[in-house]
Amino acid sequence: MDLSLHTPVGIAIRSDLIIANAWHSRTDALSSVVVLFSTIGAMLGYLWLDILAAVIISGIIIHIGWRFTRDSVKELVDTGLSPEDTEALKHIASKTDGVRNVHELRSRRMGHDILLDVHLVVSPEISVSEGHQIGMQVVKAMRNALDNILDINFHIDAENDEIHPQTSEQLPARAEIREVLHQHIENLPSNNRLRLHYLRNRVHMELFMEIPESEALPDARQISEDLGRYAWFGSLRIWHAHTEN
Ligand SMILES: [Zn+2]
Repeated sequence: MDLSLHTPVGIAIRSDLIIANAWHSRTDALSSVVVLFSTIGAMLGYLWLDILAAVIISGIIIHIGWRFTRDSVKELVDTGLSPEDTEALKHIASKTDGVRNVHELRSRRMGHDILLDVHLVVSPEISVSEGHQIGMQVVKAMRNALDNILDINFHIDAENDEIHPQTSEQLPARAEIREVLHQHIENLPSNNRLRLHYLRNRVHMELFMEIPESEALPDARQISEDLGRYAWFGSLRIWHAHTEN
């Protein structure tokens, strides 16, 4: 009889109910054997065997009952990963290419599974898709390290919100900023592209445009000065390409 604590199916799907049920069957089988011997013994005149059997069976029941109670209580009380595992995962994330800082690594348990939450600081200049890709690499490396991670939720941060004040959600959105730009830049070409960086509680703008060679470029310095009146204004860079006239 296999007396290892976890049955293959129970451990595969990590169900305490199945594991406990398997133990129920095992103790039934085990106590039947003990009862059989004690009964044969009693019939042969060794009455003390009956008492011994009762003691052995209660011992088995108490032992297994204690183990499952202890494991369940531990599971309810344990809020997450051990400090060592948390450190190890943090290390893995911070070693991933493109990650500048790791913070707020939080874990919760759901049964035997682990749910993770982590903030990853990446360069604010990279694209959304590259940031997401870096996050996926962290997820892959963490899953390789611990096999019972059920889900990892990552936040991509452009700045470390533990050190800097969090960039406010009160900052103006794209539509409002576009309107401001149209007010301050004459003849803003309609095919312009605007990239916004919300950093350190300011909005930094990159404006990409194509402009005919014969036309004057907007004066970035003058426009920046004008925009300085807005508390949210950080900086403005204008990128241009000349088109044929
Ligand atoms: Zn953060």
